[in-house]
Formats: sequence, structure tokens, C-alpha cells
Amino acid sequence: MLPISEIFYSIQGEGLHAGRPSVFIRLYYCNLYCSWCDSKYTWENQAKAKEGIDYFLVDDSSLFKIISNYKSKNIVITGGEPLIHQSYLINTLKSLKERGYRIEIETNGTVMPKEELIQLVDLFTVSPKLSNSNVKYEHRIKPAVLSFFSSLENSVFKFVIVSNEDIEEVLSLIKEFKISNEKVMLMPEGTDLETLVKRSIWLVEICKEHNFRYSPRIHIMLWGNKRGF
Ligand code: SF4
Repeated sequence: MLPISEIFYSIQGEGLHAGRPSVFIRLYYCNLYCSWCDSKYTWENQAKAKEGIDYFLVDDSSLFKIISNYKSKNIVITGGEPLIHQSYLINTLKSLKERGYRIEIETNGTVMPKEELIQLVDLFTVSPKLSNSNVKYEHRIKPAVLSFFSSLENSVFKFVIVSNEDIEEVLSLIKEFKISNEKVMLMPEGTDLETLVKRSIWLVEICKEHNFRYSPRIHIMLWGNKRGF
């Protein structure tokens, strides 16, 4: 069974399909520790996490029952780091595909996906962490995994940006891992409207310059930094 932090129905707030109504399945546990993480409740207590408090173990039939209440057939598997659970995820995703769902996975790009899983996923949104995350380089950058996702047709890369130094880092990473500019999205870091708007105005110009895509954070802009939106 999958350790689920929360399931909720909203619009996708970020990335390639921002604005699309989606069912979010947020899995518990993460292998990183980003200082600005907006879902710390999926990992901060993970060393002594308890079922029923920090996460819920949900079997497939209960999961299908919950998500069938929602209109959208677009599922976003997020976390935490969902690929930690990929061995368990494969069966669940197979059943979801049989029921006609479209599957997106959001990953931090540190875990190599298995071939069986790749076949089931419509879009991987890979979000490699930069130094602004305060995570050690060797923990956040896994060259073989990033090169693999770079070559995968149905992947996009989303970077969280705070400052100009981050842009230099993105340029260096995309060069090193041969990531096409058209796959790259830049998203402002920020958990309040004022910061997001200020950084967005600056970031849009950078996107125009490099032919990157700009990613909003609609959920933060509309509801602030709250769970379940
Ligand atoms: S990888 Fe994602 S979930 Fe994990 S700590 Fe970083 S931002 Fe949070």
C-alpha cells in the first residue's frame, strides 16, 4: 500500500499544465531536505513517522473510490519524492491507466525510474534542486538520472528560482545534461503574492531571453501557502 500524505482535487498550479483540473495524490517521505520546501509535512518527521498521523496507508480499491468522486481524469502523483515508492506505484498506475486516467509524476530527479513505470506515465515533471535549496550537491544532482530524463520525450524540467545566481546554475546544468531549452521552465520561489509577482516580472524577461517557459504558482497566488490547494 502507498503511504499517502493527502489526496485533493484542485487545478494544477504549476508547470506545463498549470490551470488543468487534477486529482493530486501526495506521497509521504522524501530523500531531500530543501530549506524552502512547501510540503515539509511529507518528510520533516519521517524518521519517526506514524501511520494514521503523518500518512495513511491506502489500498488501491479505497484510492479508486476516493478519486472517482472527482470530475478530472488527470492524476498528479507528487510528494515528497514519489519515485521512492515506484515498486508499489507500478501496480496502482496500471490500474489507473486501465480506468482511463492520465498520469503525471512530479519528481526531484534523483531516482532513476524503472522501465515498467515509464510506460505508464504521460508526463514527468523533473525539478532538480539548485544550491538555493541548501541541499548538498551530491544529494540533489544525480548525473545519470538527469541525463536519462533529459533524453526522455515526455519530460519537462522545472527549476525554482530565487536570484540571478540560480539562472547561471540552470544554464550550467542544462549544458552539462544536454537539456533542451524548450523543456525548461523557470518558476519563482515564494510563498506570498508580493514576492511571487516581483520575481515573476523579472523571470519572464529571463525566459524570453533563453526561450524557457515561465511557470506560475497559481495555488500560492490564489490561496497562499496552504495544504490541499
Ligand atoms: S524534493 Fe520536493 S518534497 Fe523533497 S524537500 Fe525538496 S521541495 Fe520538499
